[in-house]
Amino acid sequence: MYKYCLECEWQCSTGEGRSEADVSKEAIEHFVETGHTVDSFRLPPPVIRMN
Ligand SMILES: [Zn+2]
Repeated sequence: MYKYCLECEWQCSTGEGRSEADVSKEAIEHFVETGHTVDSFRLPPPVIRMN
């Protein structure tokens, strides 16, 4: 689970002690605090290749 904000640099993913429930909670808190739209991937984000 990986969630990210469409409107700022916020992001959160599972791992490092965070479960999917924790990530969902963090995303909801970000939405409540900022009103930003949070989108999510089920899989880890793709590696961005720098040319
Ligand atoms: Zn945001």
